[in-house]
Amino acid sequence: MLALYEYTAGRLAEMLRTKETSSVEITRSVLERIDAVEEKLRCYVTVSPEEAVKMAEEADRRLAAGDGKPLTGIPIAIKDNMCWKGHRTTCASKILHNFHPPYDSTVVRLLKEEGIVILGSANMDEFAMGSSTETSHWGPTRNPWNVEMIPGGSSGGSAAAVAAGEAVVTLGSDTGGSIRLPAAFCGVSGMKPTYGAVSRYGLVAYASSLDQIGPIARDARDIALLLNIICGHDPKDSTSVPRDYPNFSNSLDKPVKGMKIGLPREFFDKLEDPDVNRVMKDARQIYRSLGVSFVDLSLPHLDYALAAYYIIAPSEASSNLARYDGVKYGFRAENFDGMIDMYCRSRAEGFGAEVKRRIMLGTYALSSGYYDAYYLKAAKIRTLITNDFRKAFEECDAILCPTAPSPPFRIGEKMDDPIQMYLTDVFTIPVNMAGLPGMAIPGGFSSDGLPIGIQLVASHFEEARLVQLSSAFQKETDHHLKRPSL
Ligand code: GLN
Repeated sequence: MLALYEYTAGRLAEMLRTKETSSVEITRSVLERIDAVEEKLRCYVTVSPEEAVKMAEEADRRLAAGDGKPLTGIPIAIKDNMCWKGHRTTCASKILHNFHPPYDSTVVRLLKEEGIVILGSANMDEFAMGSSTETSHWGPTRNPWNVEMIPGGSSGGSAAAVAAGEAVVTLGSDTGGSIRLPAAFCGVSGMKPTYGAVSRYGLVAYASSLDQIGPIARDARDIALLLNIICGHDPKDSTSVPRDYPNFSNSLDKPVKGMKIGLPREFFDKLEDPDVNRVMKDARQIYRSLGVSFVDLSLPHLDYALAAYYIIAPSEASSNLARYDGVKYGFRAENFDGMIDMYCRSRAEGFGAEVKRRIMLGTYALSSGYYDAYYLKAAKIRTLITNDFRKAFEECDAILCPTAPSPPFRIGEKMDDPIQMYLTDVFTIPVNMAGLPGMAIPGGFSSDGLPIGIQLVASHFEEARLVQLSSAFQKETDHHLKRPSL
């Protein structure tokens, strides 16, 4: 028999409705699991057990009064870059190590209104810059499938927590792959919604034109349940798009027969890893057996996506991170000689090496005389990539491609080689550049037993199609049901 922490949110919600269990029981089960394995994995920056139990008691009262919503009483963890009033929100950086936001991000407000139990905040790469969760000021998170391996990043804590049963579901953020990559590496499901579908209000900014919040969970059904809560217009975020967002759960059982999936040759030409190749082949086979047809496509500007991203994202970061000066909040150096020296020392001591690299790259790319050659050119490439995808979606309903070029790698393996680390995101970054929704789901395992994810991409605001395709896949496969033996 499964312990409560092992169930999906959808199943637990049913059990709450039939009174087979209570939110307090579920929450205690997850908290015990955290006690048992957190020391090995370090998924969390902060856990608030007493408060979680209080929220669970409140959820049980709501459920008893018949006032429950679909996910009332389900325990969640949020990434440590989402403002949570009164709780430390550090972005895994020393410069924010003591920052307690005076307000809730919109997603946290929505979770509270739903009556979800917030367990704590999950570990991440510092300011979400990274692909491995190794740049965290609090130390790395480990992959539950093999603790010598990285969990992917930057939402590594969020993905590892779901895989290990340290949370039922979580939220992550994705600027260049940070939900999909760790979901793939930890054997769970994760979706980056369309840019503008989920409010960024209260999400600590990395690269504002790319950042997007999304769900990480054990299956497509839970992803849909979370999308139902977090998608929606928010007047507090000027890039949030007002439209009618559907009930995503309605797409879970729609047949995929007759759908057309595009296979962009630029994605597959790059694939060298035999395990990833095998998983992609198997995935095609599954979809073919479901009555899906395939069309070969070309996205001619894809090869420039990574380079353009590493101009745009650091440029925006260099501007966004200018606010950390030791004056208004966060870390301030202890010894300094005057105001300018205080700024310099606070930033020198407060930021980690990767964040400094991005600030320098971005400042350079935006500087007078270089702006046209770098930033402006990258912005033009971004438009070309968006147009490539637009054309592709005239021929297909969705795109299938790998999430990462390889299975998870060893802790430390790429830390001294930033370019190798950046290349991990070669399949996820183009999706952010075009603002599209993308989803990673478990597709199989490497010969060493490490999870490998497949990626589905749809046109703007077609998240429901991704739910439909991933749900159909999960009805035919059991990769998403496998658990690491910790
Ligand atoms: N690895 C990419 C970066 O470091 C993407 C990170 C993210 O999506 N937040 O920029």
